Amino acid sequence: EFITVGELANRMAERVGDVIKAMMKMGVMATQNQTIDADTAELVIEEFGHRINRVSEADVEDGISGAEDKAEDLKSRAPVVTIMGHVDHGKTSLLDALRQTDVAGGEAGGITQHIGAYQVKLEGGDQITFLDTPGHAAFTEMRMRGANVTDIVVLVVAADDGIQPQTKEAIAHSKAAEVPIIVAINKCDKPEADPGRIRNQLLEHELVPEELGGDIMCLEVSAKAKLNLDKLEEAILLQAEMLELSANPNRRAEGAIVEAKLEKGRGSVATVLVQRGTVRVGDVFVAGAESGRVRALLNDKGRNIEEAGPSVPVEVLGLQGTPQAGDDFVVVRDDTQAREIAEYRQRKAKEATQAIAGRGTLEQMFSQIKAGEVQEMPIIIKTDVQGSLEAITSSLEKMGTEEVKVRVLHGAVGGITESDITLAASTGGVALGFNVRANPQARELARRDGVDIRYYSVIYDLIDDMKKILGGLLAPEL
Ligand code: GDP
Repeated sequence: EFITVGELANRMAERVGDVIKAMMKMGVMATQNQTIDADTAELVIEEFGHRINRVSEADVEDGISGAEDKAEDLKSRAPVVTIMGHVDHGKTSLLDALRQTDVAGGEAGGITQHIGAYQVKLEGGDQITFLDTPGHAAFTEMRMRGANVTDIVVLVVAADDGIQPQTKEAIAHSKAAEVPIIVAINKCDKPEADPGRIRNQLLEHELVPEELGGDIMCLEVSAKAKLNLDKLEEAILLQAEMLELSANPNRRAEGAIVEAKLEKGRGSVATVLVQRGTVRVGDVFVAGAESGRVRALLNDKGRNIEEAGPSVPVEVLGLQGTPQAGDDFVVVRDDTQAREIAEYRQRKAKEATQAIAGRGTLEQMFSQIKAGEVQEMPIIIKTDVQGSLEAITSSLEKMGTEEVKVRVLHGAVGGITESDITLAASTGGVALGFNVRANPQARELARRDGVDIRYYSVIYDLIDDMKKILGGLLAPEL
């Protein structure tokens, strides 16, 4: 299946009747609304002497990513920083404290907007962009979707607590992504803080602090007492200098979706981190499988701006649909190209979902189980790391009873997304997040479709709960 006869005629600017006649001559009987496959469409197009413009993955890639930049066009750009670390070690506090170091922040009318990222301008004029969706979920999810936006990871370790499981995971994630780490030893205002101990612990994870002869910058900070925040920013700039971060601002914009949601009265809004080029009001773009035209651009202070260049996070209005975090954002030539690419990607996504989904609603599931027609409990599991994914999946699959088996339909590392919810909804399954959360669109969709999302941070709790649910399914308390 590829295109309807009517749409094909429309694209070729030929009359539908003529197309149907031409197809009859070729021995294909089709009506206007009938869908024909790509090969047939190609023959028809040739028959009419039109140029074939078959959109393939390669065309999409060609269409959206232009030529490489010449060295002389590259300008240095601000580093993009993600803050990671164990829960309660002070990621949020540090993000807030760093935000307050912005010299432009105090300007009249500058209201802090949480758009998923913000930029800090330092006294010397240097800028740093922070992704303010702390945690591995954002980082991993974006990376899973192919978006490598983070230049530097700031690993927060509480000086009174030391390296904890999520600290280790953050180290693993950063290393896997080959993103350099700067360590912020936080809570150094506390009397029991022991930064020396933290440095030694880092050694065990092959992060050798400069003080111990290595190349890892470690700063002793306090988000609460606002201690050494300037030193931390200096370290970030120093690291950025070593990375020689640059981009060509004078080309069509390309970037990544940091956050996207559907808002009342505003439609779909997305925070885009521009990675190269400059996006302007009026630009036509593709964002994942959605397209649009920039109606307005807002910065992290909620002000309307006309354009945004490399490393600038900007809220974009004018989307036709809601993309997902980690999707690409690419300004394209015109509406036609935008629509073609978006349609192509939507078709691909739908095919992928249909391949596994399509087994009915939760109610059907219940009644089918009761009637003995269903022997499976579908589960979608998303985790923060591969290790827990494997452990949980194998426990779940072993857990089924005589009557009902557990079937992990989809298991992956990363946050819970709309496609997970779609899958759960269409199979009557549940979506489980282990140390990951659902993104706002996924939560919205889950509410709408009545999909159960459950979050866990202890494997035992997850398994125990699933046993209960399975029991409930077998003997519903009615
Ligand atoms: P997150 O879970 O990593 O985002 O951590 P939060 O930023 O929410 O901080 C967890 C707790 O630690 C909160 O009660 C903060 O007030 C506290 N905290 C954060 N930074 C500091 C610090 O530098 N010093 C002290 N004493 N407490 C801090």
